Amino acid sequence: MKDRSLLMIPGPVELDPEVVEALAAPITSHLAPIFMEAFGSALERLRQVFQCPDGQPFILAGSGTLAMDTAAVNLVERGDKVLVVNTGYFGDRFADIFERYGAEVTQIRALPGSRPALHEVESALKSGQYKILSVTHVDTSTGVLTDVKGIAALAAKYGVLNIVDGVCSVAGEELRMAEWGVDLAFTASQKAVSTPPGLALLVAGPKALEVFRKRKTPVGSYYADWTLWMPVMEAYEARKPAYFGTPAVNLIRALDVSLGQILAEGMEARWNRHIAISNAVQSAIDAMDMNQVPVNREFAAHTMTAPRFLAGVNGPEFLKKTAQAGVVLAGGLHPAIKAEYYRIGHMGTTSIAEVLTTIGAIETALSSCISSYRPGEAVQAALKAYNT
Ligand code: PMP
Repeated sequence: MKDRSLLMIPGPVELDPEVVEALAAPITSHLAPIFMEAFGSALERLRQVFQCPDGQPFILAGSGTLAMDTAAVNLVERGDKVLVVNTGYFGDRFADIFERYGAEVTQIRALPGSRPALHEVESALKSGQYKILSVTHVDTSTGVLTDVKGIAALAAKYGVLNIVDGVCSVAGEELRMAEWGVDLAFTASQKAVSTPPGLALLVAGPKALEVFRKRKTPVGSYYADWTLWMPVMEAYEARKPAYFGTPAVNLIRALDVSLGQILAEGMEARWNRHIAISNAVQSAIDAMDMNQVPVNREFAAHTMTAPRFLAGVNGPEFLKKTAQAGVVLAGGLHPAIKAEYYRIGHMGTTSIAEVLTTIGAIETALSSCISSYRPGEAVQAALKAYNT
C-alpha cells in the first residue's frame, strides 16, 4: 500500500505542489533580492486577502498562538477591560492570554455548538467600559461560525476595539476587515492559507495601530513587540533589507506562492467554493444520520465540520478505520464533549474529489463498525448538494 494519506484535519492542510516546490527551493539569505521580493509581495497580498487596504500586515515565525499573543500583548495594558465572545476552546485560550497581560476579562459563553446572540453581546457592551472585544470567527473545537460582521458593527457602535481570531477562517470564510470595521484579524499559515505550519499572520487596521501608538507602558514581550517589527515589515514592503529576527525564509516564499494562488482564484470565488464544499460534506453527514456539534446550519463553519459519532460507534476505533482507508481525520477537542465527536477539515485547496474520498473513507469505517450499515448514499448526497 502506498505510504500516503489524504490529510483532512482542520490544519495543517494539504498543499498545492507549487507551494511545496517553493519550500524545497535552495535556501537564500534573508537579505537576497529574491527573498525581499517574496516577503514584500506576501505583505501586500495579505492586505488583499484580509481586505484591509489601509492595514499593517505582520508575518512572524510562530504558530497561531503567537498571533493571539501578539494581538493581546501589543494592545492590552494592565487593568484594561476585555470582552471575550467565547464559542469554545480557543475563546478560553484567548481569555487566558488577555489575563496573562493584566486585562480584566469578562466572557460571554455559549454552550458547545452554540454562539452568543447579538443582543447578548450588545447588552454586555452597554454595561461595561470595554477597551477590546475579541471573537473567534470559527472555533476549531466546535466548528461554530460567529457573525463577525454583526459583532464588529456592535463594537464600533460602542467605541470598542475588536479583534478577530481568524485562524480557522481567513481565506476560507467571508471576512472583509475594512468594510465590516474589524480592527485586527489574524490567522496562521497552516489553515485556509494553505502553507505549512510556522507563520503567524496579522493585519492591524488604523484604529488598532492608533491604540498601540498611544500605549502608556512598554509592550510586555520582546519578540512580539510591534515597535521592533514594524520597521522590518515596512522595509521589506519597500523591497529593502532589514533585520530584527531572522525570518522563516522558505516558509515565507511558500506563503507568497499560496497567497498568489488565493488571489488568482479571487476572494469571493474562494469563499463560495468553501460554501459549496461544506454543503457537500454537511449533506453527506446528514445522509449518514450523524448529528453535528453546531446546533444548526447557520452556526456551522464552511472550513470544517464537526460530526458526532453515531450511537454504538467507538470513536478511536472509527478514526483508526478511516485512517486505514486512507483519510486522516481529527478527534474532538472541546473538553466538555471531546469523546463524542470528530472533525473534518475542508479548507484551503480542498476539491470535491477529496470530499468524496473522505466520505468514502467514513462509509468504509462505518461499514466495519456497524454490521447493518449500507454505504453509498452519503457520497450521492454529497454530489447532489455540490451540484445544486
Ligand atoms: N485559534 C484557532 C481558532 C485555532 O483553530 C487555532 C489552532 N487550531 C489557534 C487559534 C492556535 O493556533 P496554533 O495551533 O497554530 O498555535
